[in-house]
Amino acid sequence: AKEEGRGRWTLFDPQRNARAVSRYAVSVRMPVALDRGEFFIDYQPLCLLADGSLSAVEALVRWRHPQLGVLGPDEFIGTAEETGLIMPLGRWVLEQACGQAADWARRFGDRAPQVNVNLAVRQVRNAGLVSDIDRILRDTGLEPRRLQLEITESAVVGPKDESLRALHSLVDMGVSLAVDDFGTGWSNLAYLRDLPVSGLKIAGSFVSDLKDSGREQVLGWRIVGGLVSLAHTLGLSVTAEGVENAEHAERLRSMGCDRAQGWHFGRPMRPEEIVRRIVEAE
Ligand code: C2E
Ligand code: CA
Ligand code: CA
Repeated sequence: AKEEGRGRWTLFDPQRNARAVSRYAVSVRMPVALDRGEFFIDYQPLCLLADGSLSAVEALVRWRHPQLGVLGPDEFIGTAEETGLIMPLGRWVLEQACGQAADWARRFGDRAPQVNVNLAVRQVRNAGLVSDIDRILRDTGLEPRRLQLEITESAVVGPKDESLRALHSLVDMGVSLAVDDFGTGWSNLAYLRDLPVSGLKIAGSFVSDLKDSGREQVLGWRIVGGLVSLAHTLGLSVTAEGVENAEHAERLRSMGCDRAQGWHFGRPMRPEEIVRRIVEAE
């Protein structure tokens, strides 16, 4: 009955309706969009809090839709997962991002940032994951240590034996893993024992939703502090996402948080702008 109620409500909500229409446009167009070169990748800096230097960049996919304009991943990744198109799209993102990172490594050596790539649940569960990544690293010439894969808690909770083996193989190859959106999964953390991760990324909402004052703010910061401690107790590096201002950055730095990502350090940007940052830092 609850489901029914929700369905009816959807019918009368104009905004929802508009979104449903665009979902249709998205799913119809998506199969050809990859071939036509409509997707592109922006890169967002991950900076060391100790000195503000560029440590890594996260590859974030966008779609230049001919009718709807530039779409963010939240508008099409869900549909791509449902339809299975996430497989070719995810492979394309890996190829692009690894190619880009390899190019920076050739030009800038150790001043080049590591590249972080998001893996969808379906990609993690796919039997071809390890061989795909192995091939992409060879084809692009990227050193495995320069690639970090971001996986969500939901990718490793549930039926997981095969995926765990795959993730171990990737780490044996020299690729590193980070848990994305850490703290939002409602999971029982036991997966941290089995999973060869080297980093946690604290979900952006923990920091960007912090209130200016009051009990909620105090508790919010205590939760963030607890997550940082948990990561360090487990010997993991920790990155805070959603860091929008200098005050938050300073507070995270003083807590010992290793890296930060967010508007304060730079929005997702074109690869040329990342190059400018590398060069300016010389
Ligand atoms: P995510 O992995 O958590 O990526 C961070 C998101 O937070 C990005 O949104 C980024 O633009 C946004 N963000 C960064 N700094 C700030 C900040 O200071 N404040 C706020 N409010 N937001 C900030 P974006 O680019 O829209 O990506 C959304 C999600 O789409 C990503 O969340 C990721 O889960 C997914 N995604 C993006 N690219 C890919 C991809 O290639 N493959 C897969 N499977 N998922 C992707
Ligand atoms: Ca991510
Ligand atoms: Ca995240």
